[in-house]
Amino acid sequence: MRNKTHWLEWGLIAGLGAEVIRLHYGKQLRRWWEEWKQKPKRKRHLHPRTPEDCPFCQAYEPACPTRSSPVRPWREVKSRAGRPKTYDSEGYWCDNPACEYYGITEAGIHALVSDGWRGKAERIRRWRCAACGNRFSAWRHTPLYRLKTPSRRVAEVMTAMAEGVDTAAGSRIFNHHPNTITRWVQRGGQHGQRLHEHFFRQIRSGHFQVDELVTKVRHHPKRVWVWTGIDAETKVLLALHLGRRTREDGHALVHEVKQRLTPEQLPVFSSDGFQQYFYALTAHFGHFIIEP
Ligand SMILES: [Zn+2]
Ligand SMILES: [Zn+2]
Repeated sequence: MRNKTHWLEWGLIAGLGAEVIRLHYGKQLRRWWEEWKQKPKRKRHLHPRTPEDCPFCQAYEPACPTRSSPVRPWREVKSRAGRPKTYDSEGYWCDNPACEYYGITEAGIHALVSDGWRGKAERIRRWRCAACGNRFSAWRHTPLYRLKTPSRRVAEVMTAMAEGVDTAAGSRIFNHHPNTITRWVQRGGQHGQRLHEHFFRQIRSGHFQVDELVTKVRHHPKRVWVWTGIDAETKVLLALHLGRRTREDGHALVHEVKQRLTPEQLPVFSSDGFQQYFYALTAHFGHFIIEP
C-alpha cells in the first residue's frame, strides 16, 4: 500500500512537471520540432558487398561430376547378340562412381538391364549395369528405399500430412508410429529438395521477385521468417529459405537464387527495399569498381 502511494506521488509530480514545461516552453519546443522536421535528412549510403561476405559462397561446395568427353552409348559397345530391351530404364542410373556410365539417366546411352523383381510387400524392379556389374533396386536413392510398408500406404500417409493432418492424428488414423511417419516425411522432404536441385537448374529469368514474410510454425516457440524467390513471369518458386531476418538469411536466399539461374544471368530484382537484399544481391551479382 505504501509503495503504491509512493509511485502515485512520483507520477503526479512528473505529470505536473511536464505540464509546467509545456506551458512555459511549449511554443519554443514546437518551433524546434518543426525546424528539425524541415532539416534535409542525410541519405544513408549502403556499401556493396562481395562474395567473401556470403557464408555459403565461402563454404566448400563439391561441384557436380562433369564429363570431359561424352561416353559411347552402351548399345554400340555391346555385341549385337541378345534380346532387345523390352522395358523402359529411362531415368534410372548406375550409382557406381567408378563406372563409365555413372549418373547417366538416358535409356539410349546407359547400360542398365533388368535383373528381375524382388520384394515381399510388392514387386520391386531390380537393375543390373551391364558395363560394371552393379546390381541395385529401382527404389535406391528414393524415400521408399528399404521401407517395409507398401509404397501405396506410404503415399496415402504422405498425402494426408501434406494436407495438414497432424502427426499424432495421422498416427491414430493410419495406425503407424508417429516416429515412422516423421521419418517418412523427412525422407520425402529431403528427396523433394534433391529433385528441385536436379530439375531447376540453368533457369533464365528476366524479372525476379524476392520477399520475406513472418509466420508461426506449429511446435516452434519463435516466429519464423519465410524468404521466397519467385520468377515474376512464370510464378515458379525457385528459392525458399526459413529462418530469421538477418543478413545471413538474406545471403541464404540470394545464394540459392544464384544456384538456380544460368551463370551469366542478371535479372531485374524487385523487393520491399529491405537492405539485406541490397547486401546479398551486390555480393552475388555483378562487379563493383571503387574509383580513386
Ligand atoms: Zn553465396
Ligand atoms: Zn555401371
